[in-house]
Amino acid sequence: MKFADLGLSDELLGAVTAKGYDTPTPIQAQAIPSVLMMKDLIAIAQTGTGKTASFVLPMIDILAHGRRRAMMPRSLILEPTRELAAQVAENFEQYGVNHDLKMALLIGGVQMGDQVKALNEGVDVLIATPGRLMDLFERGKILLTGCDLLVIDEADRMLDMGFIPDIETICSKLPANRQTLLFSATMPPPIKKLADKFLSNPKYIEVARPASTNTNIAQHKVPVDSRKKREVLRHLLRTDDVSTAMIFANRKTTVRELNKSLRSHGFASGEIHGDMDQPARLAELQRFKDGQINILVCSDVAARGLDIKGVSHVFNFDTPWHPDDYVHRIGRTGRAGATGRAFTLVGKEDAEAIENVEKLTGGKVPVFEVKLEAAADRPRRESSEAAEKREQEPRRKSEAKPERAPRKTRAEQTDEQPRRAGRPVSREPASEPGEWNGPVPGFLGISAL
Ligand code: AMP
Repeated sequence: MKFADLGLSDELLGAVTAKGYDTPTPIQAQAIPSVLMMKDLIAIAQTGTGKTASFVLPMIDILAHGRRRAMMPRSLILEPTRELAAQVAENFEQYGVNHDLKMALLIGGVQMGDQVKALNEGVDVLIATPGRLMDLFERGKILLTGCDLLVIDEADRMLDMGFIPDIETICSKLPANRQTLLFSATMPPPIKKLADKFLSNPKYIEVARPASTNTNIAQHKVPVDSRKKREVLRHLLRTDDVSTAMIFANRKTTVRELNKSLRSHGFASGEIHGDMDQPARLAELQRFKDGQINILVCSDVAARGLDIKGVSHVFNFDTPWHPDDYVHRIGRTGRAGATGRAFTLVGKEDAEAIENVEKLTGGKVPVFEVKLEAAADRPRRESSEAAEKREQEPRRKSEAKPERAPRKTRAEQTDEQPRRAGRPVSREPASEPGEWNGPVPGFLGISAL
């Protein structure tokens, strides 16, 4: 099967060839003809299967005919994250080079002015995250009554992020006789319900999970003492022929701290997580794509579905709580026929999560033993340890603060006095110059998660 057999226009085939593709992936081969026939679609497919082109390509041909109107987008693509929205927009630009289509991106973290201006000029394709779209809709800046084609991408992730009520509202504002395409990696009951309610007589396609079929990824789990995770990670980064790596962690705070630690050990690393604003995230991603940095430390939400070519390694600094995320994470390597390596550091706290991963992927992940040889690593370790100590100092201080916060009442102090006899008058840590030594406000004790 070739792209030329799918019923796409010559202009579009030209753009596909220019991207270097001539054979459609299974989801493209199955989805494109039925989307062109204006049928509704449910596709169970993950990122990495070529699913984006499976809706972008036929949409371009469908939208090639018709007229734009101010404030009334002709089609709408809903994405759970800003990065995915930006990536779909990039696909539209590349595949739509031979078409005169206007696109607008409506995502949080970006000034609204330009987005509203583009909408006012009329767009063929609106790519949006649900929150920002609802925001604009409620302000009366957008009409969805001319929107005949809706794509709900990564529906299960939308569910995880609490977007389903917004999506239901959006669906009810669109014309009832529209075409709807729904993509999801899994089909949990709320998504099934959404599909039953808002799709009509859909074609159902399911393609294999990339990770369960992708033999290009060598997977390993590395049993570690939780306190040695950073050291083991650095060892692997230095010894496993790493050209580019994505390192995943479950918490934003871990992402930040780990990046800081790696940088202090001389690695060219960057970070991407949900607390960063959109321009900062995209800039960091660009530095990674351009090769200015070769290690990107990420959280799951920020990294979901990102298509970055040539990632040689994926490291799971901790095992993801949702086993599906494991599949997504390791799918960042071994893409498009290349080989890749994926290491998961498994401490005591990861035991249950790795079991769930193995249940989902249907097999044990082979163990990879790392023996840290003190002697071989000594010259580096000495400076590493110094750096580690330095970087951990501020944290220790902030951890110490809440301990001082609940100051003893006078009565408590009196009660305790007999037991304190003979000890120094105050057991509180001495404050350092310039440091606040009064009561500490409660919010300082709350994690940034
Ligand atoms: P996606 O699942 O949409 O995130 O796509 C995964 C990757 O596959 C992207 O880098 C696409 O550019 C690439 N891709 C899409 N279609 C094809 C194709 N027919 N042949 C080879 N690679 C493709």
